[in-house]
Amino acid sequence: MTKGNINVSVENIFPLIKKFLYSDHEIFLRELISNATDATLKLKHLTNVGEANVAYGNPQIEVKVDKENKKLHIIDQGLGMTGEEVEKYINQVAFSGAEEFLEKYKDSAKDAGIIGHFGLGFYSAFMVAEKVEILTKSYKEGESAVRWICDGSPEFTLEETTDKTDRGTEIILHIAEDSTEFLEESRIRELLLKYNKFMPVPIKFGTRTETLPLPEDAPEDAKPETKEVDNIINNPTPAWTKAPADLKDEDYLNFYRELYPMQFEDPLFHIHLNVDYPFNLTGVLFFPKLGNNLNIEKDKIQLYQNQVFVTDEVKGIVPDFLMLLRGVIDSPDIPLNVSRSYLQADGAVKKISSYITKKVADKMAALMNENREDYEKKWNDIKIVIEYGMISEEKFYDKSDKFALYPNVDGKYFLWNELEEKIKANQTDKDGNLVILYASNEHDQHSYIQAAQDKGYEVLLLDSPIVPHLIQKLEASKEKIQFARVDADHINNLIKKDEPAISKLNDTEKETLKKSVEEGIADTKFTVQLEDLESTDAPFIITQPEFIRRMKDM
Ligand code: ADP
Ligand code: MG
Repeated sequence: MTKGNINVSVENIFPLIKKFLYSDHEIFLRELISNATDATLKLKHLTNVGEANVAYGNPQIEVKVDKENKKLHIIDQGLGMTGEEVEKYINQVAFSGAEEFLEKYKDSAKDAGIIGHFGLGFYSAFMVAEKVEILTKSYKEGESAVRWICDGSPEFTLEETTDKTDRGTEIILHIAEDSTEFLEESRIRELLLKYNKFMPVPIKFGTRTETLPLPEDAPEDAKPETKEVDNIINNPTPAWTKAPADLKDEDYLNFYRELYPMQFEDPLFHIHLNVDYPFNLTGVLFFPKLGNNLNIEKDKIQLYQNQVFVTDEVKGIVPDFLMLLRGVIDSPDIPLNVSRSYLQADGAVKKISSYITKKVADKMAALMNENREDYEKKWNDIKIVIEYGMISEEKFYDKSDKFALYPNVDGKYFLWNELEEKIKANQTDKDGNLVILYASNEHDQHSYIQAAQDKGYEVLLLDSPIVPHLIQKLEASKEKIQFARVDADHINNLIKKDEPAISKLNDTEKETLKKSVEEGIADTKFTVQLEDLESTDAPFIITQPEFIRRMKDM
């Protein structure tokens, strides 16, 4: 038996770990399963490169709750550890065996999916356990199993044991008084489904009863046979880990339902992200049906690192407009062990975010080109994401002429250049600026729309709540254009062929007029004007004396 002190530079690191390293105690399970997964994937790699002469088989990870004895077991069939390795990897806090492994096997292991990074994950066990035991047996021939025990003080014991005969590691947590929630099966299941649902090694949690199909010639009153099978809680090969070419639309749909079991509305389309340069990133994003609704609280984008759930609090990590999408982003460059504020400041994460923005833009352009009719049909449901992206992300805006649509009130859709082409002959002001007429509400502005159409003008229907910002953005960045609401009082002044009615006013009059419009709009009686408008040839001129009359009344 060896006795010794855990090798740390800070005197008492455990209280620190317990309090500050992780805001969430529940992530201990994610960390331990990540280690079990790493141990399994490392063994896989070693057998692949011929360094381990053992049968890899079909290893799984098992999680067992022993409520009576207040213990939680995490058991893997990975590469295990020798006594020496326990000394090296466990007793040295902040020494990462995962990093060492990746360093040693560099190129060959870079796609092995190893999760560990900082050499701190294991100690998160002490957030919920008053004592932790490791029972482990290395895959290496002739090595005996060892047992390590530590009660959360810097002291530990390490001894050889005959209690473990098969390869792999069993972590036993003696759950602390204040953490008994982790002895509830339902709580553990919840955690497994939250963090480990798509991890690459099968995870067994209890058993379930499977009903066997009846043989065809079974009598009518035959009872189907049942048998107990392992309850595997995860899907080790989720859609985003596969090649897009191997997936059908239906596979994406099934994945969506797996990801969001409580979402009953199907997504409109998906974007499969798959790059390995300049960084590794995979993922599938879905456009949900949004309409004009900007508020989606539930079922957000989930960030993964090598198939381990990191967070779905992605604000500040992905651009705001992408938060309206759903789906998964997975990158080994997303740090696992750290807080969200760290994530937000992380350089790799920033690069990822700008890459995704570009990728989404390219995909929109492709969708639009591949099947414009379908794209137009979906426009109403996706426009809020696109428009939001255009006003908030320069890189997205820069590409938007390829996929942003501008519908007119009759349901015809224009790309920007098509719109320009359409109106340039008829809708320019005396300085040669294009005047783009738009309505924000077809019904309320019906008579104005009618009047404008009678003059041969094109009227767009721009009705999402962020349109004022979008218009500002377009006016600021495109040359020689101006937007005008179809019911604005100065339209006839804008378009060159019309009577310059308002320009007869001097500057003071204009200012007063502007003020009265603002106040007039607040006055409900103002809408009375609408009826007069419909029957006249010159609807916009009528509004002018009306304003002035109001002015004089004041
Ligand atoms: P990291 O995973 O970031 O390397 P951890 O603190 O989580 O750091 O784990 C430290 C090291 O302990 C691992 O790198 C690994 O070498 C070893 N280890 C932990 N759990 C296991 C396990 N279940 N099987 C084999 N080795 C393990
Ligand atoms: Mg780890």
